[in-house]
Formats: sequence, C-alpha cells, structure tokens
Amino acid sequence: MFADFYKTDKNKLDKKYSQYSLSMCPHCGMVPKEINTKKFKCTNCNEFVFVKKINYKYYFLTESQNKEVGEMRKFDALKEKYFNLLVNNGYAQNQLDNDFERNKITSIEQLKDFIWSSFNNMVTANSNDFSAQSLIYFAMATYCANERDGNNVYDFQKLAFDYQLEGFLKGLSTDNSLTYEVIIISAPTNPECYKDNSRILSVNDAVTKQILPHKVEGNKHGCCCTYGFKAKRDGDGNLIWND
Ligand SMILES: [Zn+2]
Ligand SMILES: [Zn+2]
Repeated sequence: MFADFYKTDKNKLDKKYSQYSLSMCPHCGMVPKEINTKKFKCTNCNEFVFVKKINYKYYFLTESQNKEVGEMRKFDALKEKYFNLLVNNGYAQNQLDNDFERNKITSIEQLKDFIWSSFNNMVTANSNDFSAQSLIYFAMATYCANERDGNNVYDFQKLAFDYQLEGFLKGLSTDNSLTYEVIIISAPTNPECYKDNSRILSVNDAVTKQILPHKVEGNKHGCCCTYGFKAKRDGDGNLIWND
C-alpha cells in the first residue's frame, strides 16, 4: 500500500559518532595509511586499531570503543529496520522521529518497547481500515518472530488474516459484479502449511473455516501462507459476471 521508506538523517548519524576518531590512531594520534581493513596494528605505537565504516566514513577505534560502537550500530540497525516497516505501513516519518526524540531512548530494550508501542498506536489510528490493520498485524507478527522469540506470532497472524478477510468482505459489499474466491498460497517450508497450498474456497467458507494461520510447531515465524483473492472463471477461462 505505502511505498515510503524511512530516511535516516545522515547528519544526525555523523553527530552521534563524532566523539570517535575519524582520521587518526585513537592511541597516539598518528594518521594511518591503511583503512580498508577491520583491524590493524599502528606502526607508530604498536597498539591495535579497529576500523568501522559508518555513513561512508572510517572510524579508528580502541578495542573498547569498538565494542561500544558495535552496540550503537546494533541499535541503529534495529531502529532503521523497524522504523522502515512502520513508515512503510503508513506511520508519518516526522511524527515517528518526534516521538522517538521525545522519549529519549538510549538502550535497545527501550527501543524495542518504543517500536512495539508505535505498532499499537498504528492499530488504533487505523481502527476503521481493516486492510491497513491487517498489514500492521502481519508486521507485528514478524516483529514477535524476530525480536520476541516467536511469542504471540500465532495471535497476531490470526488477527492479520481475520482482518484481511474482513477487509475483503467490506470491499465486496460495494462491488458485487464478479464472484470472488479465496486461494491459499503456501510454500514447502512448512509441511503443515503446504498441505493447503492452492486450496480454493468460497469467500464465506474462508471466513467461517478460518484455515489461516496454521498452527506451526518448530518455526518461530509460524504460518507462511497468504490468501489470494481472484475472480471466478468458467470452464473456458472467462470471468463470470453477476448480472
Ligand atoms: Zn598509534
Ligand atoms: Zn500456513
């Protein structure tokens, strides 16, 4: 639906790392020749220098700074990944940035809580739009799989599939010129899912049987299926019009 991406402010990123040495050995201040390596020994002071490339700049770090910056990069990566997902699902970037600044988030745990509450804000903001809610619940299920050890993946997939069907039913209520049916599309990754691959149901059956999500054991990402919606065709492949 939305194709917006989260744009990281490169100036802010530079500022965040501005306390670290950019062009010289963090131990003795000598300007090293080699930078295209992760780690080297300074020829002047014989200490190890760790190199991290951030935003096209090479930072020269001590071992403890390297660990510190590693953690900061993890934070940046998590932020970018899920802010992207939020913006992609319709969260306005300027609002997200403002909320983030206001909450003064510094640790990964705080960031995870912030992302989760942002998802919940979006559910509330889209309470009249079933299709939008469905996409947000899918995103929340993915988040649970990746960041919450797979807890509640099933519950959020269930909400996502239910709202997807609701959204589709709502669309049909305004346009019934064609008869639609539901097809389950799956992948061989999960045998529990793949047994229903290509299964076709009437819309009503899909709503009452609630086949998706499958209960999948041993895969924290849960059900890998999607519903497809297609217009019914006759034996010759022509669309069947309701008139
Ligand atoms: Zn040195
Ligand atoms: Zn499935």
